[in-house]
Amino acid sequence: MRVDEVDRRDARQPDERIRWVYERLVEQWGVPPWEPDGDALGGLIATILSQHTSDLNSERAYARLREAFPDWADVRDAPVEAVADEIRVGGLARIKAERIQRVLRALGERGDGTLDLSWLGDLPLDEARAALQALPGVGPKTAACVLLFSLGRPAFPVDTHVWRVTRRLGLIGPKVTAEAAHLELEAQIPPEWRHTLHVDLIQHGRRICHPQNPECERCLLRARCVYYQNMRAQADRQAGD
Ligand code: SF4
Repeated sequence: MRVDEVDRRDARQPDERIRWVYERLVEQWGVPPWEPDGDALGGLIATILSQHTSDLNSERAYARLREAFPDWADVRDAPVEAVADEIRVGGLARIKAERIQRVLRALGERGDGTLDLSWLGDLPLDEARAALQALPGVGPKTAACVLLFSLGRPAFPVDTHVWRVTRRLGLIGPKVTAEAAHLELEAQIPPEWRHTLHVDLIQHGRRICHPQNPECERCLLRARCVYYQNMRAQADRQAGD
């Protein structure tokens, strides 16, 4: 993370609710390692490959793609079927191959045509985000993943688990879309907590706060969870009928 991003945020006090949630999630799931490798283009392609599949299969697809085409220009210029063949283990192979080639072609049309995104690291966070989202098929979640995981920039990706858990907790309103939640949550969370909160909220969503039948009785967050309080109030009303 860039020093100026930490300093800018340190002037503001985090919302007390965010601090409370952060401390309980860290107590339960710990602080995960944050080890960006600086390879933003590789991260972008890996993020496209990760859509609608498991981590294991998307890693296999990425490894096969890199082995078959060590140069990104070769991926861009290959027949789409050849790219799809290499990434088939990750599912939606044809769609993802087309998406990857569209991104690479768009990048090749910029500036000197170099297939590279390392220059994003020199831009302010909002400009880097906008540059990524200007690429075809790149939305807020993909852009935030590249910034956070590849470049170590404090963006806050909102996947289905993060969106569900933060809505249930009342950190965002019930009608806030996943797309809109990116900036709304980012504004609430100090930069140095964003990686941990993102990873820990996903863990929490996968292991405890399931889409159906969340295990509230073993959840450390229930004392301040809007969803849980509503469920309790409803149960109390039904018991009193
Ligand atoms: S109390 Fe229940 S609904 Fe609320 S965050 Fe925990 S598991 Fe999810």
